[in-house]
Amino acid sequence: MSAALPSGTAAPAGPRTRTTETHCPYCSLQCGTAVTAGDRPATLVPLDSPTNRGGLCSKGWSATELLDHPERLTRPLVRAVPGDRTSPLVQAGWDEAFDRVVAAIGRTRARYGRDVVGCFGGGSLTRVRVYPVREVEGLLVVDV
Ligand code: SF4
Repeated sequence: MSAALPSGTAAPAGPRTRTTETHCPYCSLQCGTAVTAGDRPATLVPLDSPTNRGGLCSKGWSATELLDHPERLTRPLVRAVPGDRTSPLVQAGWDEAFDRVVAAIGRTRARYGRDVVGCFGGGSLTRVRVYPVREVEGLLVVDV
């Protein structure tokens, strides 16, 4: 992104921080922001990019609050007993979680047919993000 910070605006910085020019992920406008991470909480400054011209909506402004939310999921949770939706959720590794998803997609296709599993995306589902999803053979990807 080549947008610059609005004049008179300085991104917060400190000895353990890192500022990245990026965009808000929440809708198709992809408003430009500079996010400073490292010290908590992370902070952001809107960029003067073509879509937002230095502004953000309330969803964008509050985006970094989610990073420190006490109920934020930071690790996968899976059912203690696979396939039993009444069993408690327990932490798992990413490999186990992905293996379970792949197995569930396979079981569903075997039972109901190849075309019963799809993926819905929105304006922030970029080509780069959708590419790994499309690698699932025959998966229908719908951009809404
Ligand atoms: S700041 Fe608001 S309008 Fe901009 S991309 Fe995020 S959600 Fe969309």
